[in-house]
Amino acid sequence: MSDPESTDQRPPLAGVVGWPVAHSKSPLIFAHWFAEAGIVGSYQRLAVRPEEFGPALRALPKAGFRGVNVTIPHKLAALELADEVSAAARAIGAANTICFDGDGRIFAENTDGYGFTENLREGAPAWNPSAGPALVLGAGGAARAVIHALLEAGAPTIRLANRTGHKADALAAHFGRRVEPVDWAARGAATGGAATIVNTTSLGMTGKPPLELPLDDAPATALVTDIVYVPLETPLLAAARVRGLATVDGLGMLLHQARPGFRAWFGADPAVTPALRRAALEEPVLERRS
Ligand code: NAP
Repeated sequence: MSDPESTDQRPPLAGVVGWPVAHSKSPLIFAHWFAEAGIVGSYQRLAVRPEEFGPALRALPKAGFRGVNVTIPHKLAALELADEVSAAARAIGAANTICFDGDGRIFAENTDGYGFTENLREGAPAWNPSAGPALVLGAGGAARAVIHALLEAGAPTIRLANRTGHKADALAAHFGRRVEPVDWAARGAATGGAATIVNTTSLGMTGKPPLELPLDDAPATALVTDIVYVPLETPLLAAARVRGLATVDGLGMLLHQARPGFRAWFGADPAVTPALRRAALEEPVLERRS
């Protein structure tokens, strides 16, 4: 009888590393794609404390992992530990997708910007990011991926408004001349002429106040999107719909950002379908982490 370990016939293995990680929807997304593609694979939640992240990441390839997603609080550490970093991860300043090669070398990628763009291309095929400036609300971690994606997609300039102005200034300095800080109080006027309007703040989430953004100056051709996806239709998206503007909700960003990892680790290109969207909105089963 052959020894399965000598020829490594174990099912392909990947997972998500975080602390905490119980809330992650990634296992649910991967389980859906395994079932759909008939792939025998395994995708595990890995609760790893910050101080154990480095040794854990280096041990994973030896344990048979092809790669992992990384989530809070490890996104920066993953970038620093990597042997090789993609241009997107470097520009965004964080990694969310790690691939190991046969020698255990660590390759860091960030797919949040990819997920953002794919979601808009799918949800609004007529979207033309080069048609005018983009307006981005918020300057936190997610804003970095959104700004990178909009620059790559051809937005001529990005108006960046954040409650705490110096954070918008810092991001503008990081991304260069095409990103222009705008006063938070002037965000309504900054919708004028905008081709794309994006909320990356946590405002509008269930339990949080809505984002107040007057849309009177926004052109009729503007696309409005929110990366908050609980609720699916945020007050901003509802107001944009009433005003007759095209809207795309944020759930697809979460689903599309998972596709590159699945492709790399399990060799199939999964789709974002209505069934996956329904599955992703189900509550995750929370696990104890200790
Ligand atoms: P973060 O780094 O904590 O940034 C939060 C942002 O929200 C900051 O710009 C902050 O402004 C702003 N903000 C918070 N409370 C505010 C208030 N009362 N008034 C004005 N601005 C306020 O968070 P993040 O990681 O960027 O995530 C932001 C949101 O995006 C979260 O809701 C997250 O769930 C969602 N998200 C969705 C996806 C997806 O795939 N769809 C991916 C990533 C994140 P200050 O700088 O002034 O504090």
